[in-house]
Amino acid sequence: MITVQAIPLLSDNYAWLLRDSRSGAVAIVDPGEAAPVAAAIEAGGGRLDAIWLTHHHGDHIAGAEELQARFGAKMVGAKADAHRLPKLDMAVAEGDTVALGDSTANVLETPGHTVGHIAYVFDGGLLAGDTMFSLGCGRLLEGTAADMFASLQKFAKLPPDTLVYCGHEYTESNARFALHATPDNAALQAFAAGVKVKRAAGEATVPSRLADELAANPFLRAPDVATLADLRSRKDKF
Ligand SMILES: [Zn+2]
Repeated sequence: MITVQAIPLLSDNYAWLLRDSRSGAVAIVDPGEAAPVAAAIEAGGGRLDAIWLTHHHGDHIAGAEELQARFGAKMVGAKADAHRLPKLDMAVAEGDTVALGDSTANVLETPGHTVGHIAYVFDGGLLAGDTMFSLGCGRLLEGTAADMFASLQKFAKLPPDTLVYCGHEYTESNARFALHATPDNAALQAFAAGVKVKRAAGEATVPSRLADELAANPFLRAPDVATLADLRSRKDKF
């Protein structure tokens, strides 16, 4: 079983520290900054087996090489983006399996935010990077709305009790747009009220449950590419 710890860094990023409970193997997902991650690793015994990257943006990879040099971790990332990621020890693609001690994660290719974006799925959890956020989705910086729609549909098929670990604490602003775009969704209204309480208390709003995203996230609920494209372009200007 993999347990997960949030490492907040930069202004609103999350890196995710994964620990395989049986073997004690440790991985960090998207270390955009080395210092806060290194501190958490040292506090947990100083072990780092792997660095899992979702995409090439600096706020997700900037701490990776320093952590690799310090702890000797194996670098894992998308084969399609190997030319613009830190040097990979394992270049992965759709359907590949990545081991962490006695546990494994499956790789999904989820283009849209970037063309080489990948996500990792393990028992009970989805490491979504910047493809999906709680109540939102990533900006289409490289891919198309059709790419993003197909990527979100892969997430929609995962077990509903999956916990979604995304790359940023964007939920409160996403909730404002979601309520503007789909004001009559009662599940969204309840979700957004809970988010407000958590943020007022200074708490993280992620991970979220996939079932709740399926009920409330307008981007995940978009029935077709055109609807998703329209939502995304309106959110860009919101
Ligand atoms: Zn990004």
